[in-house]
Amino acid sequence: MIKDLKVNFERLVRDLEELGNIGQDSRGGISRPSFSLSDLEARKWLRNKIEDAGLVYRQDGAGNIFGRLPGNQPLVVMAGSHLDTVLNGGRYDGSVGVMAALECLRRLKEENIVPGKTLEVVSFTDEEGNLIGDFLGSRAFTGQLLTGQLKTARTQFGHPLEEILQKAGLSVDSVLGASAERPEVAAFLEIHIEQGPVLEEEGVPIGLVSAIAGKRYYQATFVGRSGHAGTTPLELRQDAFIALADFSLRATRLVARKYYGNTITIGRVLLKPGSFSIIPGEADFTLDLRSQEPASLKAMEEEVLGLGSEVASTRGLSFYRRIVDSTEPVKINEKLLDRLKGLCQQLGYEYRLLPSGAGHDAQILSAVCPSAMIFIPSIDGLSHTPEEAINPEDLEKAANLLLQALISLASE
Ligand SMILES: [Zn+2]
Repeated sequence: MIKDLKVNFERLVRDLEELGNIGQDSRGGISRPSFSLSDLEARKWLRNKIEDAGLVYRQDGAGNIFGRLPGNQPLVVMAGSHLDTVLNGGRYDGSVGVMAALECLRRLKEENIVPGKTLEVVSFTDEEGNLIGDFLGSRAFTGQLLTGQLKTARTQFGHPLEEILQKAGLSVDSVLGASAERPEVAAFLEIHIEQGPVLEEEGVPIGLVSAIAGKRYYQATFVGRSGHAGTTPLELRQDAFIALADFSLRATRLVARKYYGNTITIGRVLLKPGSFSIIPGEADFTLDLRSQEPASLKAMEEEVLGLGSEVASTRGLSFYRRIVDSTEPVKINEKLLDRLKGLCQQLGYEYRLLPSGAGHDAQILSAVCPSAMIFIPSIDGLSHTPEEAINPEDLEKAANLLLQALISLASE
């Protein structure tokens, strides 16, 4: 720990204000999906900030942006997050992690401190999954993408991925090659807003993440038979909505009882044909399953899907499902967590441990290096909305913790 070295917090706040001017939409939020015009503008802005700070700028084949403060060794300690946002999102999700990391490196650079290990700030591409599923950039960086998926992928806006990448001077092949350019990384740290109410409710400025939930996304369907609502007796129906309703309640009860702490969410339902007078013959829905524990996630997944088949067969319907995305739960590296706890104590910052129900780049990075997360309270627990807000003092503490953590990790 370099005592009394602190980030320039006014400068960090100014940066976040400037960045918040990029991608403002008509509904008062920020819309910066990856490789949109506003994202390209934010990328250019970040590049200038990195170069103005005297750091070495580089972009890899996945469009991940890095700023490097060379140390005595090539081994890298990395910190960052993402600058992309959901549509009509807020100013802090992702941004605080990138800008706080940049401020830490900039502060060390202006003190002429040469770290033992090399330090890098990173902004990962498309963490929010506006293109083809979450974590495109960090998955590419760590070599966790499947070739087949990408070649034919279309984004949620309907365009082939390849077309979007070309506009940014990239390609599917360059994305797939990004992991080959990866330096050896010793550790990764990410500051992020909590996106939940726990820290604010308890009045604690800093959350040290103990585990990050893994998830399974399924697109699923009950297929029964459509029929006239007036002429088909109840006992002769194969109503897809009733099957889905039965499944939803039973599956939720199952998770609440047997897999306490895990979650199940049906977020979108589409009934077909979808009319007053017709029994729905088809119910399409999304199924989101999450858990902090790999074994529990797997067992819950099997049992919930089995319940889908059981409900279908007892009611004379069919049940189909297709996996859309999955990530594994991650337990945060103990040594790294202990280091952060120790630094909080030295700095006199109150903290609490908490799990993250949302996924983050740090979860993906943990496949290649010890990774940890520092949460700051979200006002009213809000995120992914224009109302997203933070207390500046909390970010100041988190940034100073990150600064000391980087110094300590780089010098060991
Ligand atoms: Zn985020």
